[in-house]
Amino acid sequence: MPAAALPPDEAARMTALLQCRILDTPPERSFDDLTQLAARLCETPISLVSLVDDDRQWFKSACGLEAPQTPRESAFCAHAILGDTPLIVPDATRDPRTVDNGLVTGPPHIRFYAGVPLRTADGHALGTLCVIDTTPRELTTRQLEDLTALAHQASSQLELRRKAGRLTQINAELSQLNRELDEFTHIASHDLQEPLRKLMSFSALLRQDIDGDLPPRATQDLDFIVDAAGRMQKLVNDLLALSRSGRSALQVNPLELGDCVQDALAALSERVRSSGARIHVEPLPTVFGDRTLLTQLYQNLVGNALKYAHPDRPAEIRITAEQRSGAWIFGVRDNGIGIPAEYTDQVFAPFKRLHGRSEYDGTGIGLAICRKAIERHEGRIWVESEPGTGSHFRFTLGLHRDHSECLRNSLQSQPSCP
Ligand code: ADP
Repeated sequence: MPAAALPPDEAARMTALLQCRILDTPPERSFDDLTQLAARLCETPISLVSLVDDDRQWFKSACGLEAPQTPRESAFCAHAILGDTPLIVPDATRDPRTVDNGLVTGPPHIRFYAGVPLRTADGHALGTLCVIDTTPRELTTRQLEDLTALAHQASSQLELRRKAGRLTQINAELSQLNRELDEFTHIASHDLQEPLRKLMSFSALLRQDIDGDLPPRATQDLDFIVDAAGRMQKLVNDLLALSRSGRSALQVNPLELGDCVQDALAALSERVRSSGARIHVEPLPTVFGDRTLLTQLYQNLVGNALKYAHPDRPAEIRITAEQRSGAWIFGVRDNGIGIPAEYTDQVFAPFKRLHGRSEYDGTGIGLAICRKAIERHEGRIWVESEPGTGSHFRFTLGLHRDHSECLRNSLQSQPSCP
């Protein structure tokens, strides 16, 4: 038998086949159902979902045949994928392409073959759904229609696998990029700390050494240097905090969320007192989470509620918790300046600020840290807001008892939790 020629799209076809990540995978009901139905409807002893690999045809599903694969050069399917229409061989002993094929002259003694190509959405034929008989015969029009319909189902399954495979790959690439970015942020901010500290301390020394000897203009310039270095130090510290919130090992335990709030309020007590803000804390449940990250989350959210208070009224801040369909939604609500609707998604991105430094001090990293903390708890964070009236930052926590056990176990075997 002359081996089938390679299809003109062979390289792209093979890429598509590999993207399906299906070769050498265990049998699956969804494909086995199709071959069984095909054999029953076409009244043949054998039906296959055959995928044409580099040098073999491999059977994802084989009804009525033991062999898991055969060489590509003897594969009827390698011929079938060359055509746009089903390949029908009524009697293999009379077809020049198959008359001396080992599968015809020897077991399983193929006589009849009908194969419908399995095509991807972009047209690459990866293999066939075929039916095989050991006596010469034909298919009725109805049987060929049924076989074609089943082949479409098999093609859809392959296409789904291919898309899922690509998504998995893209996900893995994104995670890798994120890890590299985190690494870069960590290293860059860590390495910047040392020269910055020097800049700050030598500027202070310089001021001490020459205090009073400098003309006012030069004193002002020195102040600018100290001020800029201070801001940069804050930025570097915030960047480090952002990187730590994604890298540090999660310590997931059952914890009273109220304790996180109290720790956060203690850290902010001076600002709360001096601003005259009023804070109400609703009863909060026990949750599974990382105390450090959740405390930092509340500290950032309440800190922002104090910072972005409305100029005409003292801040009124409510730490909220409500149950909806059995799930908790937590929040920090304020009566501050609010956020325009078009920015409510953007404010969680690193460095996104809605005001200039002259209006409000900040680095634009606080909410990015909050989002990272919540993502690590497999929850969601968002804000509902009305400009001039106030904002309600809300979040869910997705970790539960089983998950925290699993994390604890994985932490025992790894230095950090993924
Ligand atoms: P920063 O406060 O350092 O600028 P954040 O990441 O904490 O950075 O916040 C990002 C932006 O979101 C802020 O610059 C501000 O414009 C807006 N924002 C955050 N919290 C509030 C709030 N409670 N009310 C109004 N605007 C807010």
